[in-house]
Amino acid sequence: SSPLFSAIEMAPRDPILGITEAYNADQNPAKVNLGVGVYYDDNGKVPLLECVKKAEAILIEKYAPRTYLPIEGLAAYDRAVQDLVFGADSAVVKEKRAVTAQAIGGTGALKLGADFLKRLAPDSEVWISDPSWENHRALFESAGFKVNAYPYYDAATRGVNFAGMLNALQTMPAGSIVLLHACCHNPTGADLTNEQWTQVIEAVTSRGLIPFLDMAYQGFGDGIEADGQVVRRFAEAGGALFVSNSFSKSFSLYGERVGALNIAASSAEEASRVMSQLKRVIRTNYSNPPSHGGQVVATVLATPELRQLWEDELAGMRVRIREMRNAFVSKLKTKAPAQNFDFVIQQRGMFSYSGLSKEQVGQLRDKHSIYAVDTGRICVAALNSKNIDGVIDAIASVL
Ligand code: PLP
Repeated sequence: SSPLFSAIEMAPRDPILGITEAYNADQNPAKVNLGVGVYYDDNGKVPLLECVKKAEAILIEKYAPRTYLPIEGLAAYDRAVQDLVFGADSAVVKEKRAVTAQAIGGTGALKLGADFLKRLAPDSEVWISDPSWENHRALFESAGFKVNAYPYYDAATRGVNFAGMLNALQTMPAGSIVLLHACCHNPTGADLTNEQWTQVIEAVTSRGLIPFLDMAYQGFGDGIEADGQVVRRFAEAGGALFVSNSFSKSFSLYGERVGALNIAASSAEEASRVMSQLKRVIRTNYSNPPSHGGQVVATVLATPELRQLWEDELAGMRVRIREMRNAFVSKLKTKAPAQNFDFVIQQRGMFSYSGLSKEQVGQLRDKHSIYAVDTGRICVAALNSKNIDGVIDAIASVL
């Protein structure tokens, strides 16, 4: 035996994976997994979008050789993504100040940005929302940063503690890296209003903070355009800007790992220097990204009828989630009239901080085979017309 491994400690299990394992082992046919982070359709299945099927049919027909992609990814993909994220008619795109590199999902984009930032601003600290997607902290820590949290969720109002958030932005050191959820905050579902974003952008810009927008759910909030507004507004405010985006959810392409890191620079010349250094980070990590998912997304985005189909299918997912939010609230009103769940309708994206306590989540699991995260986070996209009544009855019984 080697001393190399003998002293290794067992790492803690991923909490969300643990939920899925327990769910899989559960024999109750009425079991429901609300702990997941993926979109399910009304039949409880992960959809394969029609636009993806059609793009794949086009790609298969070509029987193209599987060469390496460029370090920064497929050019057609990077261009289409940049137009989607910043806007084709935006100053940053038109003036060629934007840098886009295909990345291995949104996670890969965040890690790429984090590794790159560590080279540019090694002494800066990172600030994430409290709470945030559970991987944000680990990801930036693994890039060597100290990670702090700014106030975000207010359990009392079930909304954003905006005064606390703004105060944190106004007191953190210049050069701090601030991670913001562009839309559909994970895990809470609580987003900022346009007016609150105005104040955040003002604070970030005037205090010389480095904004890093994570956009993993574009199109799941109020629509592709509306959800992208925050990115556009930050880009217009000027200054360095990092944006990670993902198509895992919006194209239902989870396992293909399609995302991108987008950076706004102040001139075309600066952008080309940024890209040259970003390529070194990529080259020493994984050399160049995988090809298939990027080809699919580029084909859909650049083919008008497929693009329209995608927008319609994405709208279908968004609307179905909203219907589930409405049904959740109205059904609970009947079953548990003493409680007010109206905030669930205000929340955006796939998730809801339901307000259920850890004990209530435990009872749902043990008595009803309904699985949720201990924090009370439920995936609204895992509800459907068949399971919602059972879920509501169970929730009403543990309140
Ligand atoms: N950022 C947030 C806020 C997320 O919720 C997720 C996925 O759940 C990601 C990033 C990562 O996306 P991907 O699966 O494309 O790596």
